[in-house]
Amino acid sequence: MVAIGETGLDFHYQHSPPAAQEASLEAHLQLAREQELPVVIHCRSAERRLAEILRAAGMPERGGVIHCFTGDLEAARAFIDLGCHLSYSGIVTFKNAGVLRETVSFVPGDRLLVETDAPYLAPEPYRGRLNEPAYVASTVKVVAALRGVSPEDLAELTVCNADRLFGLDATAASTAA
Ligand SMILES: [Zn+2]
Repeated sequence: MVAIGETGLDFHYQHSPPAAQEASLEAHLQLAREQELPVVIHCRSAERRLAEILRAAGMPERGGVIHCFTGDLEAARAFIDLGCHLSYSGIVTFKNAGVLRETVSFVPGDRLLVETDAPYLAPEPYRGRLNEPAYVASTVKVVAALRGVSPEDLAELTVCNADRLFGLDATAASTAA
């Protein structure tokens, strides 16, 4: 096990009432702290409330990631200040995602991640199809262009960041031993 989650808040679908979601999130944050693991956080239409809760509870020592980040610059700034990583999915390639694209160059290099969120959210030019991990290359291309770096450099950076956040190098070492 390399992380606790995903947990978080979804005020778009509201599959459960906000109070129940918040209690569950707080319990997961506590668990991450106890287990000394990072936390994977889902956030939809709840950026402000999530930032409030993280500020009050404090991020776990090992940090965490806002997975499939879809917020604006204000939300990006709040989560970065809290010590979170931000992870971009195929949404960042969508035509109507201008507000999200504005946030990409704001993220410090050591806090940036990309993800598939497969089988959902296939990036352009595969939008609408069943998503698969190989398509993350399209997301990398867009994020790299927004940051003015090559896709190869962006890929290397985000792999390093994922290894560090989730302790994957250490996990591989202990499995081998
Ligand atoms: Zn999610």
